[in-house]
Amino acid sequence: MKLISVVIPAFNEEENIPVLAARLVDIFATLPAYDYELLFVDDGSSDKSLEVLQTLHQENNKINYLSFSRNFGHQNALKCGLYYAKGDCAISMDADMQHPPALLPSFIEKWEEGYEIVYTQREADKNLSFFKNKTSSLFYKIIDKLSDVTLEEGTADFRLLDKKVLNVINNLKENDLFIRGMIAWIGFKQFKIKYTPDKRFAGTTKYSFSKMLKLAVTGITAFSIKPLKVALLMGIAISIFAFIYAMYAVAMYFFTDETVPGWTSVLVSVLLIGGLQLMTLGIIGEYLGRLFMQAKYRPDFIVRESSVDKP
Ligand code: UDP
Ligand code: MG
Repeated sequence: MKLISVVIPAFNEEENIPVLAARLVDIFATLPAYDYELLFVDDGSSDKSLEVLQTLHQENNKINYLSFSRNFGHQNALKCGLYYAKGDCAISMDADMQHPPALLPSFIEKWEEGYEIVYTQREADKNLSFFKNKTSSLFYKIIDKLSDVTLEEGTADFRLLDKKVLNVINNLKENDLFIRGMIAWIGFKQFKIKYTPDKRFAGTTKYSFSKMLKLAVTGITAFSIKPLKVALLMGIAISIFAFIYAMYAVAMYFFTDETVPGWTSVLVSVLLIGGLQLMTLGIIGEYLGRLFMQAKYRPDFIVRESSVDKP
């Protein structure tokens, strides 16, 4: 019997976890040809998520959990779940019921047809706030433009990965993994399913603005060095401009009497160049920071307790 793992990162989702777990158990009841394990990753929740998971595990040992020592973020929770998954394939989804569990049978069908990655694309969604829609669309556009991988809009972490793909991902030595970009980069036989997300069942979004921003910066810097080149191009453009302006100033000095002490132009150019320098230093710093963190080989997550064995 093939084993299917379902990996679900959850951060303060006490009300959603039992609902999703029950729904998944129902779905797998209609798929008797498969064995399954649910793997919830409690990302350092401060609510009762862990207690809820412990109770669920006692009632049904197919429902398992890993619990972090603190909040390490959604991407790291996902990475951990994929690492512990024992299945012949693993399906990742959110804990808040936005990713319709009803799609799972079609994921598995496509997998059986030989696709190694079955990923999803979110269709335009009126349930989402204007802000979320706009920032999300901007996020994918910017990453697509700036990074070296093609990232389709609305392809979040709701997908099925075959064991072969899991092995590749689990063996990556890269800290702070941006899994969406990695899926676009990794190749394999991929199939896309479109879906309309449902409303979040309970609670509010756990992706704060700062977490979204961090994800965006990771997405860009993990897959591209283009921002570093932007710094170089701006430097060249400004140098050319500065050279022409300097020639003009020298000519004015020698051939006219109109050398007015122009503090405006000095101020503007100092401010402009100062700003650009700080910005490019910031870009370089971002990459240097990533190198620094990687060089320390710190783990991306720390598991405090779990109901499953170490792989
Ligand atoms: N999540 C997590 N750690 C975090 C933030 C979010 O594990 O630090 C989980 C969250 O519980 C949910 C999934 O990641 O299962 C997606 O988060 P959310 O639904 O809040 O994001 P949104 O759908 O609003 O983009
Ligand atoms: Mg959500």
